[in-house]
Amino acid sequence: MKLDSKGNIIAGSLAILIISLLIVFIFVFTSMNYIENENIKSNGNNYFKFIVDDYTNNLEVLQREAIEEAQDKVFESFRLIDSEDQIKKNLDKRLDEKNEEYAQKYGVNITSETLSVESGPSPWKVLFKVRLSIEKDNNRFNKVIEKNTSIEGLKDPLPPAILTGGSGISYYKDKIYYLHSLSRYIWMHGLESPESYLFATAPLTIKKCPYDPYTHHGDPDVLEDCLDKGYFHESADGSCYLCRLEGKGKCEHYGMEVFIQTHTPLTNETLSCSDHVVYHDHYNAKKINETDFDSLILDDSHRMKYGLM
Ligand SMILES: [Zn+2]
Ligand SMILES: [Zn+2]
Repeated sequence: MKLDSKGNIIAGSLAILIISLLIVFIFVFTSMNYIENENIKSNGNNYFKFIVDDYTNNLEVLQREAIEEAQDKVFESFRLIDSEDQIKKNLDKRLDEKNEEYAQKYGVNITSETLSVESGPSPWKVLFKVRLSIEKDNNRFNKVIEKNTSIEGLKDPLPPAILTGGSGISYYKDKIYYLHSLSRYIWMHGLESPESYLFATAPLTIKKCPYDPYTHHGDPDVLEDCLDKGYFHESADGSCYLCRLEGKGKCEHYGMEVFIQTHTPLTNETLSCSDHVVYHDHYNAKKINETDFDSLILDDSHRMKYGLM
């Protein structure tokens, strides 16, 4: 009886051991197989995902180049009637080249179309919408990609666009030297004291002013530094980058403004020196500091905005 039950126990546990070993073996085998299959599958997807990511990451660079090409045209005295359309064309041309390159390199079929180029809620960015379709074997990617592109670091196209070409403007070390061109413009528009703006200067490259809120410009040395660095400021009255390309001093978008700095001993009233006033709104103001040749000429509402009351 004792031996019998012992034998049963041994046989029983042996069977359990074999069964569990079998289960473990089957589990390990199937999961190994499963992992292997997963890898093959995700390898294929990863490769396609890499191509899509690579392409979309490149979009921002191409968008910036498309804006830059429009900017260059304005500085080469070309008149842009529709900056959005011009930038669209510039981008589509670059995308077509990119699509061809990807077809050769990765064997993918890409079609793309720039749907829109618009000014967004921030004046420092331009929003692009691009319809993109990428195909390779059984993988497909179809999407409208929306990406912002910064315009900081680009040149302000408004002066050459509005004063028609490079006529009479000179550029040196990141500054615009208006020489006689701006006083001629003011004189031609029948506005007061054009001679105050003889040899006026302004920043060339767009840089966002870091002194936020702007009332800090009234703090010691801030205005000096802002003028020295040549910063641009957000302004609902100033025009956006896309409209600047078209030579518009004002537009319905949220835009920017920059100070045009006069260098004159004259102290009479003349245009307030924010560029949207000089180029569009045309209201007069006086120097902040009458004894300073380089003083800004600013009206009360701009003095308030910049803390210079
Ligand atoms: Zn500033
Ligand atoms: Zn605009």
